[in-house]
Amino acid sequence: MAEMIINNIEIRPGDDLLIRLNISRLPSGTQIDIPIHVFRSEEPGPVLLLMAGMHGDEVNGIETIRRMIRRRMLQPLRGTILAIPILNIYGFLNFSREVPDGKDVNRSFPGSATGSLASRVAARFTREVLPLVDYGIDFHTGGASRSNFPQIRCELEGEGNEPLAQAFGAPFILDSKLRPGSLRKEASKLGKSIIVYESGESLRLDETSINTGIEGTIRVMHHLGMTDTSVPVSHPPVVCKKTTWIRARRAGLFRSFVKNGQAISRGQQVGTVADPYGYASHPITSPVNGYVIGLNHMPVVNQGDAILHIGVE
Ligand SMILES: [Zn+2]
Repeated sequence: MAEMIINNIEIRPGDDLLIRLNISRLPSGTQIDIPIHVFRSEEPGPVLLLMAGMHGDEVNGIETIRRMIRRRMLQPLRGTILAIPILNIYGFLNFSREVPDGKDVNRSFPGSATGSLASRVAARFTREVLPLVDYGIDFHTGGASRSNFPQIRCELEGEGNEPLAQAFGAPFILDSKLRPGSLRKEASKLGKSIIVYESGESLRLDETSINTGIEGTIRVMHHLGMTDTSVPVSHPPVVCKKTTWIRARRAGLFRSFVKNGQAISRGQQVGTVADPYGYASHPITSPVNGYVIGLNHMPVVNQGDAILHIGVE
């Protein structure tokens, strides 16, 4: 069996460890570490990464992983689980997506040990954690007051991605291209399959999203042979090969007439944007048949703001 070492700490079969991956110091001198829970079975098997908080304000995923750790659900029968509730500690402290250098960790892979903070976080992760991983689930939420309906995003062509996405069993699977500098792209270069679970919105907890995330993780563990028990899927996922955003053509007060997750048809009125003074109200209609997979919860919109994300089968 290959040696597993993180931050100079060796992980042996049967280990249950909390490793603190040191990153940097704050201007105050406080040391910033990323806590990584490691649960390694005596039995060999795959290494599954569960990670949240790459965007520090996306607390829903953080709570999802915290709950699974707390309920001791992550001790595999076979293989190893690496659970990282918060990758971006800085953003978590600042209620922010980014790190203090203003950059997005998920556009900074593979990173550099001598770069700015986002790049350093990415580099530490790429060097210490990623080489050990076979599969991964990266937990995210919508940003900027936009709420995502539970969905898995991955490149369906990528090897091993679709079976993992199907196993997770979220209501929607989106075929999503690899973006430069993203963790998914870096992982795919190394032949590792990391899928993204998107659900809920930043700085809010959402029980449906959390429960769907927990059940999906159990199903992925079962699919990988890491546990013998599973949770049945109520409906097979709807696979969306395309997605499109409706943007506000006018500025004003936005109201939605649809719910996240629901099917909509072309020409259907999905909401309205009104001026705040009571003069006029303008309908918003869907350009396609599809499903609402993301919805803006911020009523005040500017021209061009993304207000509704539609998945097309
Ligand atoms: Zn995110």
